[in-house]
Order: sequence, then C-alpha cells, then structure tokens
Amino acid sequence: MKAALISIDGLDHEDLPVFSRTESLGRLIASAQIARSMAITPAQTYPCHASVLSGCYPEHTGVIDNLSHPDLSWQWWRSAIRTPILTDWARNAGLSTAAVCFPMTAGADIDFLVPEIWTENAGDDTDPVFRASCSEKGYRYYLRHKDRLDWMRTPGMDLFAAAVFEDIIREEQPDLALLHLSYLDHQKHLHGPSAASVPHAVAFIDGLMNGVLDALGDDYMVFIIGDHGHRPQARSLSIPAEGMVVHPTGMSAEIYLDGMGEDEAVSYLRGVDGVGRVYGKDELSCLHLPASFDIFVVADDGCAFSATGKVTPSGHGYAGDDGPYPPFIAYGLPQAFRSTACSLVDEAPTVLKALGIDMPGTDGRPLI
Ligand SMILES: [Zn+2]
Repeated sequence: MKAALISIDGLDHEDLPVFSRTESLGRLIASAQIARSMAITPAQTYPCHASVLSGCYPEHTGVIDNLSHPDLSWQWWRSAIRTPILTDWARNAGLSTAAVCFPMTAGADIDFLVPEIWTENAGDDTDPVFRASCSEKGYRYYLRHKDRLDWMRTPGMDLFAAAVFEDIIREEQPDLALLHLSYLDHQKHLHGPSAASVPHAVAFIDGLMNGVLDALGDDYMVFIIGDHGHRPQARSLSIPAEGMVVHPTGMSAEIYLDGMGEDEAVSYLRGVDGVGRVYGKDELSCLHLPASFDIFVVADDGCAFSATGKVTPSGHGYAGDDGPYPPFIAYGLPQAFRSTACSLVDEAPTVLKALGIDMPGTDGRPLI
C-alpha cells in the first residue's frame, strides 16, 4: 500500500461532527480510526508542520514561528528544519515521494515537489520562485495549473494544490504523497473558530476532497491531519518595553532580551495586562522549545499579540497542551491505533511505520 498525508490547516478534532455530515469526508470519517493530537507550542502553522514532517519538537527542529527571526521572512524552505523529515526516510528506503503546497518543503529532496511559496507582491510573475523551489518533475505540474493560483490567497491556492496533487497521483502514483489545504484556516480567522462558523469552507474542502479521494482510489492509506485548532480572540496585545524585542506568534510571543536582565523582564511581563503565563529561559525546555530566545509568554484567553494592533475574530499560536487539539485520522490502515491520544510528533513515525519504514531519532512514537 501507498500512503497520502493530507493536512487541512486549522482542522480541530471538535470539527469532526460537522465534517461527518459531508459527502466525501463524512464517508471517510465513518470508517476511519481517529486519534486526538496535541499541537506543539506555539500552535502556529509552520512550527506545527515542521514537527509533523520531522516527528520532532521545536527544540530539535529549530522552527518556532512561520517567520524567521529577525528578518521576518517566511520559512518556506526545508533547510530551515534542522532534522530529517519523513520524505527523507521514504526516499532512503527507495520509495517515490510527492508534496504539494506542504509548508516548509521548498527545495526538499522530494521527487514531485510543488511547495507552498508565493511571490513578494500579488501579481508578480510566479515562475521564478516556483522554478527555484520545485523539483524538476514538480515544476511541470506547476506550469500546467499555475493559472489557478491567486498569490497567497485562498481558495485559489487550494484549487491549484488539489489539481496538481490529483494529476501527480493519477500519472505518477508516488508511494508517499503530501498535500496541504489552507482555506478552512483562512476562513476561520475571518469568521470564527469552529467548522460550524464556516459552513461554506467545510463544503469547499469537502468538494476538493471528493476529487482528491477519487484520485487516490483504493491504492492509498489516507491520513488526514490538522496542524492546530482555533480560539476566539478579541483583544490585541503589544508590549511596549525598552530592552526587549517581542516576536509575536499569535496567542503567544517569543521575547529576545536586548539590554534588560531576565529577572527584571520576567517580573515586568508578569505585570502586563493580558499576559497570562511567562516562561524564563530555563523553563523553555518544559515546552519543548529551543533556547534560541530568552522568554516565552502566553496570552490570556481572548487575547493575542499583534504587530499591527489588530486581531482577526479567531486565531491560534496557543500553548499546545491548552488545546484545541487537531485530529489524526487514518483511513485504510490495516493496523489498529494503540492509543487515541497522541501528539503531532507521533504522526510521521506512524505514517512511515505503516509503509514499513522505521523513523529513528524522533521525539514521537508510532501509534501502530
Ligand atoms: Zn495552520
């Protein structure tokens, strides 16, 4: 059997009753195994996907935000993950691999690669960035469907991703294929944290999945994941302090000290209205975070850090164990999950084990 790993960005375990009523995903969910998966901290898209890909926590991947610090560029490139990723192990075992719009795969050693990436400005020619980041075989599929792209916006990016993925599956039948869809997450940000608040996005994702599942047919085990859930947010936080640099990650923030001592900074941050928990450098490892910054803060419920002073109605970036938890859904897997509680870091080892491949050196463990 081959395996497909499909990430529906922003999918929460609590969304499953809504998706259970849909035509395509509903049918799949009815006969799938489902575990509840703790997101990593901070529950942001790129750190979560780095941990999904690698089976390792941020303290080992080194990925703590969508953006790199201090230049604030998007971390599209696989080289930003310091550990091996599941497609590396699959290729080492002689399997063929594909990834479409999957975060942090740009430039990865993947046979049919069309990564998530976009140009600096809407309307710029997309060919140069995709030529630089796709595999040679993937670039041909990009060219075939690039007219569906609408810069970084959805639903265009998802329409592009599904079309490319379906063609790669039908024409190349890779042994391990990864896909990422973003529309549900984008619509939750705008309209509310649950799938029930975005029925149009649920219908759209299910429509795409109808074609994707049809292409996969009976040859693939299908793993469907979310990277993080969403929580309501109404208040924007900023920390106006001399002596520290604040790097917001939604409902949390990384603090880089710049002249202020740690004790003084921790004491100051504990007094900031809207700041919930404050972790000093020695405590970062308890959250599986690297010591590449100095202090980690988690916002109070309903608050989020924002560089612009604005927040969308819903967001994430929370501490993983606070929840919500994304699901880990396995369809067509012959073995039974040993547990229905897991973490994002358990997902890659499980997918590879299902393909008969060990993934040593990970923080996670296979569920089978
Ligand atoms: Zn996400």
